[in-house]
Amino acid sequence: MQKHRVCAQATSDAPEDMAQREERKSLQHRIGEVAVDNDTISYVRRRLMTWGRMHVEHFPWRTATNKFHTLIAEILLQRTKASQVVSTYLKFTERYPDPASLAGACIPEVEDVIRPLGLKWRAKLLIQLGQALEGFEWEVPDDQQALMRLPGVGAYVSAAYVSLHCGRRAPILDSNIVRFYGRFWGFDTGPETRRNQDVMKLADLMTPRRGFKEFNYALVDFTRTVCVPNPTHQTCCVRNKCCLYTRDLL
Ligand code: SF4
Repeated sequence: MQKHRVCAQATSDAPEDMAQREERKSLQHRIGEVAVDNDTISYVRRRLMTWGRMHVEHFPWRTATNKFHTLIAEILLQRTKASQVVSTYLKFTERYPDPASLAGACIPEVEDVIRPLGLKWRAKLLIQLGQALEGFEWEVPDDQQALMRLPGVGAYVSAAYVSLHCGRRAPILDSNIVRFYGRFWGFDTGPETRRNQDVMKLADLMTPRRGFKEFNYALVDFTRTVCVPNPTHQTCCVRNKCCLYTRDLL
């Protein structure tokens, strides 16, 4: 993880006595070359969760209780806009209400349902997913490691599924979230950044022990709608501590 600037969260060189230094040490973490402090972590969590209470959107999969449906939603949401997924999600779950019905489907049929999302190539994987769930007695497992062994389920989908639908804390990282963390904390990002161990550690630090579901929903929606590729920083609730924004003010 390459740091591209020295920002407000960087370690100060000011003299301090040993007690202060020890106290500061416990409040700071080094993520690669970036100093991450607990006060700023709390600030981001608080601000995003407050923002989320007013702005998090209500999509049908967010209140669904059928675990198979919610897993399908997280798969369909990859690399697609959430608003575009709604009609395909509803059609898909009506046509394939459970893993067994998906396992018995044929590829052209599934392709037809997911074509509007440009995900035609995922049809075979989705059928294989349905078939693989037979090994779990047609139930979606709650365990992230077990989920990641299923066809078409990677790190993001499994983390989003367990943290948003199973009540288990898991840090989530997609390309939008990586972009936000890079801008906010001040490090360069690229296509492989979300597999970087330091960034995974940062995501873990950012995810609260309590309220992780609320935080993750806010994080997903904030990075999807506010900290977008060309953001209007003025409407951003964390701008006062954002490295990119404060740098531009210098
Ligand atoms: S100030 Fe701008 S770059 Fe920084 S987090 Fe907010 S929207 Fe993103």
